[in-house]
Order: sequence, then C-alpha cells, then structure tokens
Amino acid sequence: RRRRSLAGAVGPGRTADGHPVALLLNVGEGDPDRAAAHDSEGVGLLRTEFLFLDRAAAPSVDEQVGTYTRLFSAFGGRTVTVRTLDAGSDKPLSFAATGEEDNPALGVRGFRTARVHPDLLTDQLAAIAAAARATGARVRVMAPMVSTPAEAAAFAALARGAGIGEVGVMIEVPAAALLADQVLGEVDFVSIGTNDLAQYTMAADRTLGSLPDLLDPWQPALLTMVAAVGAAGERRGRPVGVCGEAAADPLLALVLVGLGATSLSMSAPALPAVRYALGRHTRAECRDLADLALTAESPAHARDQVHTAVHPDL
Ligand code: PEP
Ligand code: MG
Repeated sequence: RRRRSLAGAVGPGRTADGHPVALLLNVGEGDPDRAAAHDSEGVGLLRTEFLFLDRAAAPSVDEQVGTYTRLFSAFGGRTVTVRTLDAGSDKPLSFAATGEEDNPALGVRGFRTARVHPDLLTDQLAAIAAAARATGARVRVMAPMVSTPAEAAAFAALARGAGIGEVGVMIEVPAAALLADQVLGEVDFVSIGTNDLAQYTMAADRTLGSLPDLLDPWQPALLTMVAAVGAAGERRGRPVGVCGEAAADPLLALVLVGLGATSLSMSAPALPAVRYALGRHTRAECRDLADLALTAESPAHARDQVHTAVHPDL
C-alpha cells in the first residue's frame, strides 16, 4: 500500500484505477519559472488581472504579448488556460469603469465588461494568440462570468476569430450551470469557479467574513450545481474542470471527480495532497462519495459522511 502511494507522487493525476484527472495550477502574479517548476500538468486558471491592476491605462498589446510569452515558454508543452480579464466587483479597474453600481457583484463585470469596453477583450485575445503562435504552447482561453449560451457563443466567436483553437467559459453563475449542456454546445470545455458559483448560488457575498457557513463549498446546493455541469460534460464528452478553492480540499476533490470533474486546478501547495488522495480511490469510489455528499443535509454532514467513508478508522 505504501509503495503504491509513493509511486503516485509525481506525473499526471490519476485515480487508483487509472482514470486521468488533470492536476493544474491556479497562477497569478509571480515568477512564471517558479510556478512552472511545480509538478503539474499545466495551468488551469491564469488570473490575468495582475497585468491590469493598479494602472491608469490598460497594458498595450505588445506588453501583454511579452508577459504571456514568458509564461507560455516557462510551461513548455504543457496546457496553459488563460482567463480573460475579470474586471469589476471584487476586482475594480479605473480604466474599465462601467458606471456607478449599487450591487457590483451583480453588475457589469467579467465578460460583461466587454459590452462597455470591447477593445479590452479583443486586444487581450490578440495578445494571447500572438504569444501562443510565438511559443507553440498549448493555450486555451476562457471567459469569466458567462451567464447564457449566447454569451458563450459570442466569446467563442471572438476567441476563434483571434486565432485561438481551444475556447471555454467559466461556470460561476447558476444560470450557466443549469444550462451547461447548451453552454457546452458552444465551447470546447468549461471550468467551474466554485468561489463565485457559491456566492451566486447561496446569494452570499464572497467578500463578507460573516457568512462562512453559506459559502462553505460543501453546501449540497453548490454540489448539486457542480453535478449538473459534470453530467452535461459527460453527455457531451467535453472536459469539465474545477478551478475554485473547492478543488484544493483533498476530500472534496474526490467528490468533484465523482460528480464528473475531469481536471482540478489549485494553488501549488495544495497539489500533492490532492494527487495523493486521488491515487488512493477509484472513480467508482469517487462516485459513491459524491452521492454521500449530494444527499447530505448540511455541509458539516456532507464532510462528515465523506470523511468517515474515506477514513473509517479515524
Ligand atoms: C472562482 O470564482 O471560483 C474563480 C476561480 O475565480 P475568482 O476566484 O478569480 O473569481
Ligand atoms: Mg470567479
């Protein structure tokens, strides 16, 4: 038993029965070479806001090409999933202002920013495409805060028009989770952002410290959303990633795989424990754990049930 777990310590993510689950990194500002040195299959979420924050004007296309090129080169032949600018709400930008809003989390943010500032998005897509061509890296793009299949189609048209081959959207709004099948009809993959999906499913502001129980990623309602997306991905045969904080919890990662996640993206320190947990459970066991969590009556109950099933002696 010990030998098997050590053998699973590096390389691609797999369940105990060999079902692949890509283990990817969430990356933001920082040294791309350091990020690339971690044992991962690539980047599942490049938060590009770092390029735009604390500036009076947007970075030029040339500057963006330079930054993306360094990053893509550092990751060599591995996948890099670039999220287009997620401005607004908890990530305000002066040059992407969209007017006074009483409820910015429900306002013109994420992909919606392109309604007001289309050039920000088209410039960014052009820069990503140019850097991808220059490095030959496997680059995918995805848009944040997409709510409808029509928005997914609009983003896909823009990204493909810019010359990017693999296009997806984040699922972080309940409307998109409920219509995941139609959304997946428009794009090559989706990635679930559990941080915002929790906020919008539970109607609980993620920036408040006072509602942690509602924002708990083990909330059965949130897991039901994830299950809907996972089922749509399996029906369509298209990848469904998870890139919110939920993917970093090894027990919850097993549940997410049981719900149909085909990749998990997280900060680098979380990766070894998730890899280890996956390597000790078959996909069928993950499905059983998912059923336990989905049918629990509370987040604490879900966590308890799954913990007891995984660690019966503790
Ligand atoms: C999310 O919402 O879960 C997510 C991954 O994006 P961010 O935390 O950057 O909003
Ligand atoms: Mg988000």
